[in-house]
Amino acid sequence: MGEPYLLTPGPLTTAHEVKAAMLCDHGSWDGDFRAISAEIRTRLLAMLGDPGFDCVLMQGSGSFVVESMLGTFIPCDGRALVLANGAYGQRAAAALRVMGRSVEVLDKGDFAPPRGAEIARILADDPGLTHVVAIHCETSSGILNPLEEIAQAVAGAGRRLLVDAMSSFGGLPIDTAQVPCDALVSSANKCIEGVPGFGFILARRDMLEASGGNAHSLALDAHAQWAEMERSGQWRYTPPTHVVAAFLEALRLHAAEGGVAARTTRYSANRDRLVTGMRGLGFATLLSDEWLSPIITTFHAPADPAFDFVRFYDAMKRRGFIIYPGKLTRAESFRLGHIGQVDTRIMGQVVDAVAACMTEMGVRDCKPAPAAIQKGAIT
Ligand SMILES: *Cc1c(COP(=O)(O)O)cnc(C)c1O
Repeated sequence: MGEPYLLTPGPLTTAHEVKAAMLCDHGSWDGDFRAISAEIRTRLLAMLGDPGFDCVLMQGSGSFVVESMLGTFIPCDGRALVLANGAYGQRAAAALRVMGRSVEVLDKGDFAPPRGAEIARILADDPGLTHVVAIHCETSSGILNPLEEIAQAVAGAGRRLLVDAMSSFGGLPIDTAQVPCDALVSSANKCIEGVPGFGFILARRDMLEASGGNAHSLALDAHAQWAEMERSGQWRYTPPTHVVAAFLEALRLHAAEGGVAARTTRYSANRDRLVTGMRGLGFATLLSDEWLSPIITTFHAPADPAFDFVRFYDAMKRRGFIIYPGKLTRAESFRLGHIGQVDTRIMGQVVDAVAACMTEMGVRDCKPAPAAIQKGAIT
């Protein structure tokens, strides 16, 4: 058997062309490499389609780039409201505390979505809040948060919005006319289907220009990185050259497939095939259909005592699929991602493999405990 499919939301299964692009060494100062970086910035900006924005590339995994965005755009005397309904919202709040920013958290628990009306109320009650931080797709449950509603509430209150669009950008449309925001962040190894190693910030150019001196960190200063890229076309410190070259190839494949719209269609079809198949086996999703994202889906663990996640993981791996543990604090679950180089044919094979694993483990009934379903209801 060849390499396994990664049913994880990044690193994910990449195209052969993306891997092949890493077989060439580039000098970071070299003109060809600078042209690669420039083309990446141009293509990402074209994907967003807002001429008021500019693009900064930043080394590190997604969390490094979230930290870079937060620390560069929220000044020391700023005060942020973080909308948290899962691990990535909690992580953004933790990053802000570490960097000594004043932070308030709207904590909705494991997955309940933050709503416009409550955000408007909090902002009205606390005029000191300057920025709001929102997660678009909260990958820890797979929920697609109501970003447009959130952005309208923030804009209505005259505050700035910073978006963690890590697991959505490139796979789902983000129209800044409907979703007014000041910056968003994503990374190489999510919906654009590159390999891990860097991320990017798309930010309003006027805010970027005004953000000099805000950053808590030398290496994660997005303003300084942007200024250097504008001046010399270079990254300030050693870029992950192979990863950057692979990402440009991934962007070309993204465009050739039909851009964001085609990705939304393929990922949604993957989710629908997977969810229908899994429900057919008796599994239940954590979320009701209206909140499911095309990125990743959380399933309740079966209540049947024969089910064991570690055994399930190993049995799936033997069948060529790497799955993902759940990240809920209150209910047993696991997650299956549907982004990357996978299609509905592969999703059908995933469902067949899950069925075979259940037989192997002796799980007769895939239904969760009724109490778990109650905890999964969004009211
Ligand atoms: C992947 C992801 C991140 C970044 O995680 P890393 O492990 O640092 O790459 C941040 N936010 C969301 C919503 C994500 O899906």
